[in-house]
Amino acid sequence: MPIPALRILGIPIHDVTLDEAVEQAAGWVKEGGAHQMATVNPEFVMAARRDPAFRAVLEGADLCLPDGVGITLAARYLGRPLRERVAGVDLVEALAARAAQDGWRVFFLGAAPGVAGRAASVLAARYPGLTVAGTYAGSPRREEEEEIVQRVREAGADVLLVAYGAPAQDLWLARNLARTGAKVGVGVGGAFDYIAGVVPRAPRWMRRVGLEWLYRLIRQPWRWRRQRVLPLYAIQVILSRWKAR
Ligand code: UDP
Repeated sequence: MPIPALRILGIPIHDVTLDEAVEQAAGWVKEGGAHQMATVNPEFVMAARRDPAFRAVLEGADLCLPDGVGITLAARYLGRPLRERVAGVDLVEALAARAAQDGWRVFFLGAAPGVAGRAASVLAARYPGLTVAGTYAGSPRREEEEEIVQRVREAGADVLLVAYGAPAQDLWLARNLARTGAKVGVGVGGAFDYIAGVVPRAPRWMRRVGLEWLYRLIRQPWRWRRQRVLPLYAIQVILSRWKAR
């Protein structure tokens, strides 16, 4: 069954729940091929509007998950409410749980040296039976691509999680996923940092009321550069409803 998609400022977003995303991944692992997931937040939308290559990657992705309260609020405002917000870190947890159960091999690529390994160990302890195909920081630089593709291929990964931040991780996957042999590739942003405990996640109440972005800004003030597009995002979403009338 095709997954229902809507568009926010022209960028596709799929209306899937966390459970459905994992189920979808399970289908892809079974059937083979290379399938890409992106965890789309408002910064992605604004970046993709300016960057045709990033936009093409999101258009081509098999699943664009609604990550961030800015996406769910915009969808509701535009009259196409989404059922759930699916955060990248929650997806990684849920995929790890399913991988442990179904025997998928998971490769953790990206983040600062040592962080992917730590995140993998945390998940392996939490989900006994999880097979870690490999962990590697590497970098999204083109010169390293061949070597990294070979590593993942030799590791026999079913699922490849890539934490290079957007858009680097998503462009990387679009260029290389098929060559790695992994059946599912996911751009996971800062998920390894949270799981490894390098960066604390916002308390549950803040996430519930939609203030995770504020917590991230307070903990990592350099984010203002990335988040400064958010007011413009809000204005453009409001204008887009007006134009659609
Ligand atoms: N990162 C990396 N190499 C790079 C740039 C980023 O490994 O060249 C990692 C960084 O260490 C972090 C992740 O990519 O683990 C991106 O995190 P961020 O919180 O910026 O992602 P977001 O969730 O905001 O997209």
